[in-house]
Amino acid sequence: MSEESPAKRKGIPHETVIGLEIHVQLKTASKMFCGCRVAFAAPPNTLVCPVCLGLPGALPVVNERAVELAVRAAVALGCTVHPRSAFARKNYFYPDLPKGYQITQYDRPLATDGSLDAPAEGGGAPPVRIRRLHVEEDSGKSLHDRFPETTAIDLNRAGVPLVEIVTEPDLHSPAHARAFLVRLKQTLEYLEVSDCNMEEGSLRVDANVSVRRPGSHELATKTEVKNMNSFSQLSKALAFEASRQVDLLEGGGAVEHETMLWDPVRGATRPMRGKEEAHDYRYFPEPDLPTLVLPEALIDTVTDGLPELPWEKIRRFVQTYGLREYDAGVLSADRRLAAFFEATAEATPDPKTAANWVMGEMLAISNELGQHVAELGIEPVELGRLIDRVETGALSHTLGKQVLRRMIETGKPADAVIDEEGLSLVSDSDQIDEWVGEAIRENPAEVERYRDGEEKLLAFFIGQVMRKSRGKADPERVRDRLARALATD
Ligand SMILES: [Zn+2]
Repeated sequence: MSEESPAKRKGIPHETVIGLEIHVQLKTASKMFCGCRVAFAAPPNTLVCPVCLGLPGALPVVNERAVELAVRAAVALGCTVHPRSAFARKNYFYPDLPKGYQITQYDRPLATDGSLDAPAEGGGAPPVRIRRLHVEEDSGKSLHDRFPETTAIDLNRAGVPLVEIVTEPDLHSPAHARAFLVRLKQTLEYLEVSDCNMEEGSLRVDANVSVRRPGSHELATKTEVKNMNSFSQLSKALAFEASRQVDLLEGGGAVEHETMLWDPVRGATRPMRGKEEAHDYRYFPEPDLPTLVLPEALIDTVTDGLPELPWEKIRRFVQTYGLREYDAGVLSADRRLAAFFEATAEATPDPKTAANWVMGEMLAISNELGQHVAELGIEPVELGRLIDRVETGALSHTLGKQVLRRMIETGKPADAVIDEEGLSLVSDSDQIDEWVGEAIRENPAEVERYRDGEEKLLAFFIGQVMRKSRGKADPERVRDRLARALATD
């Protein structure tokens, strides 16, 4: 990540101030206030009922599982979870909002005052404060591409459970905002409260952006930026918007308080509509739902049941396995990768070697094939056995990598691949001498230079022999036999 603050890039003394609002879809089987199933890409308007359609007389009932997941997120983010919170109606008119209001939480949210440490480039940034975390329901979806010149409405998503997480404006560059979001997403995935799939809309981010002179604490006019659907779009949109505001101010203009839509095709933000003030929504307490009361036992159970969180795992990997912090971070990117690494480390004498194989060859293959390391069909104990063959000298590192790829292609264990394909290291001196002889015969000029004192050419000859053996010759023995053969006529 090399994005600088755009203000800094332009050489103009402004700093960027960013706060994020993140909507996260909770991983529940059913909706927030009714029994309708939650599923992505179901045929439009098939997952609906009188409650989520807002038909007269239908009454909402709170999904307890959704509340429990929200509490889990709140506790992990260090928030104060309020034993009593309340639902409110946020009123607005939009075609995809069948009731004419959204049930959310307003002045009495589920949780407040948390924080999350988001290591920024260069470090040193204090933890990002989380202002609030509350539960609410999603709206439906307008489909603009189904019918020509007509907008269609799909209400399958209406009523799907969400948490909204609001940060304080503690982020000071697009890179920092991105680092925060990466860590937040990772944390929510560890907690298994959401699948955080940005393409499917289960993690959506809006940002409040303003710029000000460094050291100034006055609140500058901010804009809200929407429609950033990936990490890279987030970085680009924030950089563009901050830069646009600096240009406006430097040109003697003023920033308007408005909502900006990021257009990824043009690579620019454009005004969407005047920002609704809070009172425009005419919030009032939801009359159909009682106060949300959380038994103390629930908060305790959730707290006790929290999994090891990303930063805890990183710390443990550094302490237990002696890994560098960066490597521990790579291996803790998600729980499955971390579990795969740990199982491999247990199957080998040296955890650092296990870390190198998982971070190197396994992640490379995973990227090539677009499959998670845990889905490549390699058991950690088999990877451990392969590493052992390399470490004890039965295979060169190059051969080991070949064996690994064949293991993935064939699904066979390491030793079977080595036996069947004759991939074990050739240490047979006669065979090696034959390759050595060929290499010497084929390169008379180099032989002469070597004998005239150009000893670094030994590496050239080793390369020639290794190529003839297709990586199977024992490199130590090759060096030995070559040095001997080159020294004598
Ligand atoms: Zn429903």
